[in-house]
Formats: sequence, structure tokens, C-alpha cells
Amino acid sequence: MPKKMYIKSMLNIKRNILLNPGPATTTDTVKMAQVVPDICPRETEFGNILAQMQDDLVKIVHGDTKEYTAVLFCGSGTINMDICLNSLLPDGKKILIVNNGAYSARAAEICEYYNLPHINMKIPVDEIPKMEAIEDILQKNPDIHLVYTTHNETGTGLLNPIREIGALAHKYNCVFTVDTTSTYAMLPIDMEKDNIDFCMASAQKGLMSMTGLSFVIGKIKFIEESEHYPKRSYYCNLYLQYKYFLQTGQMHFTPPVQTVYATKQAIEEYFKEGEDEKFSRHKMVNETICNGLKKLGFKEFIKKELQSGLVASAIYPDDKNWDFDKIHDYCYERGFTIYPGKIFDTNTFRLCSLGAIDVSDIEAFFKVFEKALEHCKVAVPVKYAEGI
Ligand SMILES: *Cc1c(COP(=O)(O)O)cnc(C)c1O
Repeated sequence: MPKKMYIKSMLNIKRNILLNPGPATTTDTVKMAQVVPDICPRETEFGNILAQMQDDLVKIVHGDTKEYTAVLFCGSGTINMDICLNSLLPDGKKILIVNNGAYSARAAEICEYYNLPHINMKIPVDEIPKMEAIEDILQKNPDIHLVYTTHNETGTGLLNPIREIGALAHKYNCVFTVDTTSTYAMLPIDMEKDNIDFCMASAQKGLMSMTGLSFVIGKIKFIEESEHYPKRSYYCNLYLQYKYFLQTGQMHFTPPVQTVYATKQAIEEYFKEGEDEKFSRHKMVNETICNGLKKLGFKEFIKKELQSGLVASAIYPDDKNWDFDKIHDYCYERGFTIYPGKIFDTNTFRLCSLGAIDVSDIEAFFKVFEKALEHCKVAVPVKYAEGI
């Protein structure tokens, strides 16, 4: 990331390094972009910003804006999951959830809450699905309409082979929906090449903007086909929000106005940094994290070749002095936020590489982290019981 992005604002805001999986560390210019004259979001001026944003959001995933659109919502990332699942299922059809992590498990839970017929294909959280197994389910269940999975399972950092899963979904005439919340604007994604019909993200993750704005990017043809699907939610319906914007140039309900301004700035900074440059910055930050963990003796939960390169999941050491909360607090007081893992039966913590951070920030982090370990009297290199 070009150094000039850290333009010091007049407010001189403290710069915290967030290694949690979002919200991300933002630039000062994005923070400052929120401070704008008060405006009613029903003004054309505001609608024009949203219209431009829809196009830009599609371009980030290399979609043709004649074929794909972005539908904006006010809410955190989970709203997208809810919307895609409840809006895109015709009567008498089923959803297949390819589930190897906490976020796909959440998607299955959403299906349960709405009573949506679904198959929850559970795979161990440290493994990617076998294509033959997916194909077998698709073959035996011709009533599956929607195939859903998560790109980067943020709870562990496992990356799913979405292009292959998407190809299978299409082979069986299914709509393919991917939760790309923790890869969008970080890993290069291409709607066509990756066989994606719908993907989603939130402004506060890869785009490095503020919280409160989420968006579903999808094939216009499929959104229009969903017009007559059962309406299962009033607030969270994809077609209704799409249609309202098309007719009025406004979001149906009050948008997060200031976050929209921050996101406009964040998108400008995204294009300025460049897709490849940003991807390699995240990769380098992740490599620095993995090397730092390895030097201290930490073991990672996910095999290297299955990692997204955006999340490092380290297993708690077997040391009676290890206390995640204490280590967290020590780092937090010094401007670095670390985050617990999200795995049912293994204790892990996570260091994520989204956000406006650089290799030098990670080097600074490890100096503090080492002191935290020393402070808590955790033996370094850290120890594990045999068999891990
Ligand atoms: C962050 C995230 C979400 C959304 O979580 P919220 O807390 O609702 O913002 C959804 N899916 C994935 C994969 C994520 O990383």
C-alpha cells in the first residue's frame, strides 16, 4: 500500500492494527470521508453515489454491468447470507449447503429458521469437499436449485475451491451462491471464470471501509426470475430491494449514509492501489504473520495448501500460563487486536491480514506479542503435548 495513503488527518486519530477478521484497519482518508454535510439520502445527489457504487462493486469482481448488478443493504455481512438464502429459492426446490466451517454452518441455520428445504453437506472443518461427493448429491437430488458455500471460511482460514464447485452446480442447472465476505476485494475474483452467480461482501472487510453497508452481487437474470418466488421476509428480500432501486434510484429503507461516503472513498483507494498489488500486500502480511508464529513455535490449524492466505489460525499451546484473554489485553492496550478462533473442538486464535496494514505493522505486532508471552510467562518456543 503506498505510504501516501496514511495522510495524517487534522484529527490525528490513533492508528490501531486490527488483526481480527473485520472490521478492518482503515486509512485516515476513509475515516475522514464520513464527515460530510448532512444530506437526505433521498436526494438525487446521494442516489448518484449509490448508482456509481453499484457499478464499481460489480467491476471489482470483473462482472459485466449489463449482466450483473450489486444490490445494497443496510446491515452487517450476515444480512447478505439471509437475503440470498431466503430470496432465491422457488417453491418445491432445495438448497445444498457445502459446509466446512462456521459461516456455512450459519447458512444452514438460516435455512432452518426459514424452514427452507436444504441438504447440509457437512465436511470436517480442515478439509475441502470432494467433487465426487457433491456431484453424487446433485445427481440424487434433482430438486436442488441453489448451491451455496463459503469462499474463505473465516473461522479457520480454509479456502474452498469455488470454481470447481460452481462448475458442478452449473452442470446440474443450479444457481451458485458464494459467501465471499472475507475474500472480496482481497483475493482476485471473477464472476464468469469462477462460475459465480451470486456473491456478497460488506464494506468493512476487504474494502477497508466502515460498518453498516453490505451488498449482494449477482446475475440480473436470476434476480428478475426470483420476482415470483415466495417472499419470506419483508426487510430482507433481494428482488424487492433491486426493484425499488431500479424504479427510484434509492434504497428502500434508510441507508447508512456516512458509511456510504466512506465506502466511496475506500473504493477509490481500492482502484488506486490495484487488485494485484493489494492481493500481494495481503499475502505478504499473511506470510509475515505465519513466519512470526512459526518462529515462536506455534502450530497452525489449517494445512498450508488449503489456506486462503488471509487468516492464520494458531492452536493454543499446552502451557498452563497461556491465557488468551491476558495476551489479548496486553496487545490491545498497545494498539493491536488479536481474535479468538471459531472452531468447535480445538482452541485457536486468529491473526488476519485484511485492512490497511503492512509488513512493518506485523513486525511491530510481533515485538509486542513476544513481550505479552514473556509477561504471561509462556515458555518460548511454545510447547504442545505430543500428537498435535
Ligand atoms: C464477516 C463474515 C460474515 C458476516 O459477519 P457479520 O458479523 O454479520 O458482519 C459472513 N461471512 C463471512 C465468511 C465472514 O467472514
